[in-house]
Amino acid sequence: MTYRAPLGDFSRILKHVVGYERVSATERFADASLETVEAVLSEAAKMCEEVMAPLQRNGDLDPARLENGVVRTSEGFAEGYRAIAEGGWIAASAEEASGGMGLPLTVTTCVNDMMSGACLALQLNPLMTQGQIEALENHASDELKALYLPKLVTGEWAGTMNLTEPQAGSDVGALSTKAVPNGDGTYAITGQKIYISWGDNDFTGNVCHLVLGRLPDAVPGTKGISLFLVPKFLPDENGEPGARNDLRVVSLEHKMGLHGSPTCVMSYEGATGWLVGEENDGMRAMFTMMNNARLGVGVQGIGVAEGAYQHAVAYAEERKQGRSETGTILGHADVRRMLAEMKADIFAARSIGLMLAVALDMARATGDKGWAARAGVLTPIAKAFGTDVGIEVASKGVQVHGGMGYIEETGAAQYLRDVRVTAIYEGTNGIQAMDLVGRKLIDGGEAVFALIDSMQSYIEGVKSDIPELAEAAWQASENLRDATEALLAMDMTDRFAGAVPYLRAFARVLGATAHLRAACAERDSATERLARFYILRMLPEHASLCAQARAGALVPAEDFAA
Ligand SMILES: Cc1cc2nc3c(=O)[nH]c(=O)nc-3n(C[C@H](O)[C@H](O)[C@H](O)COP(=O)(O)OP(=O)(O)OC[C@H]3O[C@@H](n4cnc5c(N)ncnc54)[C@H](O)[C@@H]3O)c2cc1C
Repeated sequence: MTYRAPLGDFSRILKHVVGYERVSATERFADASLETVEAVLSEAAKMCEEVMAPLQRNGDLDPARLENGVVRTSEGFAEGYRAIAEGGWIAASAEEASGGMGLPLTVTTCVNDMMSGACLALQLNPLMTQGQIEALENHASDELKALYLPKLVTGEWAGTMNLTEPQAGSDVGALSTKAVPNGDGTYAITGQKIYISWGDNDFTGNVCHLVLGRLPDAVPGTKGISLFLVPKFLPDENGEPGARNDLRVVSLEHKMGLHGSPTCVMSYEGATGWLVGEENDGMRAMFTMMNNARLGVGVQGIGVAEGAYQHAVAYAEERKQGRSETGTILGHADVRRMLAEMKADIFAARSIGLMLAVALDMARATGDKGWAARAGVLTPIAKAFGTDVGIEVASKGVQVHGGMGYIEETGAAQYLRDVRVTAIYEGTNGIQAMDLVGRKLIDGGEAVFALIDSMQSYIEGVKSDIPELAEAAWQASENLRDATEALLAMDMTDRFAGAVPYLRAFARVLGATAHLRAACAERDSATERLARFYILRMLPEHASLCAQARAGALVPAEDFAA
């Protein structure tokens, strides 16, 4: 499908909203000036527009399939993957020592956004590898790093992430895959994993699985989990794919969407694996991978929203129905309302994703704990809000198309079917919200209040320039502060009951600050008009969300008995 990379939005957000210049002012990222980043992004944009976007429908119409135990991928995906790998887009942020470009995660985040908008099913493959690279860089032995990282970085080999088992979904601690030491430093891995994205493919020389398992004497729960690297082919003495390991794809799931991405049931039958990190400390290593993936998945939502929005605008510009000033449905106020909501939410969610990427880059470049704490707060918000926006925008995209939105040929429905899972995998959005009001408030709200303070100090500074919008944003941030204090005083059941509306209220306020910053930089422009729309029409939702967050758990389990 046609797709145009939103390079203008990236520049606007990096320059005016998230303060990217702080990243390039660090020693670590001194070579990544804004001009360099813009040049890099326009290269990635070409690849997304010209190579990946035409593959989007193939994934849907010619799904991945399992033939004699081997996954066959959708037509054109192998060539698309090669273009991604050759461009260096799998691991632009990997360390130079591993063969990466050492670019800030902020750059990879923009590239992932574009790749997701162009072809989500294919993009999920390099996203998994990116997470694996980061987990290995931070936790693997030097030997494993030397053997695997160069091949993962170039895309010669691909990575996957194996947590889920039939009885262990959100509750990862319930997993039962066994890992028995072989006595030679390796482990025999036995168990079944389900829903494994890109558990196999027919275009990389090897598929390297990061698998969570349990040692024979491990304690129950997450404290007894270890992480293992389990390749499809065991590397030979030259580090090339050698003997087949004892693992196989049992079947592929039949899904609602994302048909180009093979979602595998995997069986490990005494497969040889290597420990990553320390025994029984697998969750720490896995968290590195999951945090990276949470930002990545949030950005998948934003990318798909962009594709769905562009598609809807193109349709609205052509479809004639009723009398309107433009002669098309774009002339109808309600159609423009839908398109404006889509556009304004994409800008808000994209800004929040890039706020998180900048916080992660700053934490990495400076070691400052304040940036790390900010990233901790922003991670669940970026994941849940980004993916909710993906789903809501794709759904409005169908609505803009009218009946044609429900007919598969237009492709509008594919965006919605494909993006729906992003609110479920990588920690459901409910679990993200519980993380925000639980673990992320363990510090008594210090990191959250610091973030609200920083928004308020900016808003104070522009109150005289743009009073109506600044006043609304300031009041909303004050309401968010009050709601946070109320949550801190509640017991955990009540807090968890209000977690989802609280997270969304938080996102609304962050989005308002982002729009305000952009409007102040570009007065009397489409950017300012969009900010007005967001702040006057969408931000007020935060007040009812805050009320919901404060209401607590009102309905006990027995009320649902049939
Ligand atoms: C297409 C697809 C691709 C996937 N890719 C991968 C992959 O590559 N690797 C991998 O390991 N997994 C993958 N998954 C699995 C995915 O991460 C899980 O489906 C997800 O974590 C939810 O687990 P579950 O399906 O068991 O749901 P459950 O955990 O059973 O959740 C059901 C519902 O209960 C809620 N819930 C559960 N526990 C709690 C709680 N404590 N408090 C409040 N609410 C709760 C959830 O939010 C959800 O609404 C994939 C799934 C799909 C569908």
